[in-house]
Amino acid sequence: MKASEKKDYARDILRLLKTRYADEMQTSLEHANPWELLVATMLSAQSQDKQVNKVTARLFKAYKKPADFARLDGRELYRFVRSLGLYRNKAKNIVSAAEIIETEFKGKVPKTMAGLTSLPGVGRKTANVVLSNAFGINEGIAIDTHCITVSNRLGLARTRDPEKIEAKLVKLFPRKEWSNVSHLFIALGRDTCQAKAKHCERCVLKRMCVSSTVKG
Ligand code: SF4
Repeated sequence: MKASEKKDYARDILRLLKTRYADEMQTSLEHANPWELLVATMLSAQSQDKQVNKVTARLFKAYKKPADFARLDGRELYRFVRSLGLYRNKAKNIVSAAEIIETEFKGKVPKTMAGLTSLPGVGRKTANVVLSNAFGINEGIAIDTHCITVSNRLGLARTRDPEKIEAKLVKLFPRKEWSNVSHLFIALGRDTCQAKAKHCERCVLKRMCVSSTVKG
């Protein structure tokens, strides 16, 4: 496919996904401020958003600001987060991130990719989620496992490396849509284009997707 054709293909994908998943162009992680979104996103690695929302509903009643978390030992968070995978590491990273935010960022979640990724346990995916959903800044595209599956099946990338996929997608979609692309690919991945099985027969992209007639 030529570069210009690929852009047209990407534009059509976005248009159809917007018609099908109009209500899903936002994070399903519940939060009231950038700090809560950062914590929820850190907790969401390899865990379902629904489960994270149950955990944070209790957690944010007990502790609110970065200063509250910075005072804790990571182990004090275990009783809140132990239902989630990798909870020990997540708890430790959240407390360390809170300490750094208190000492280096005057208690405010940084609004830059460099600032966010300087925090322990925060990679580009988490930083992109916080920048776009909490601050309205489209610095890149948050690539999770659904985005990896969907990007490859749609023929927009041929790699499982999130940073390489992000680099491909930012060239194909206009910046103002970057946050939407992430949310829509996640919605598609949860609905019809799951890693374990694809359900092309009921997919909104079945007429155009390069993998719709490919088995597996
Ligand atoms: S048509 Fe099939 S392979 Fe293509 S995006 Fe939809 S579910 Fe995935």
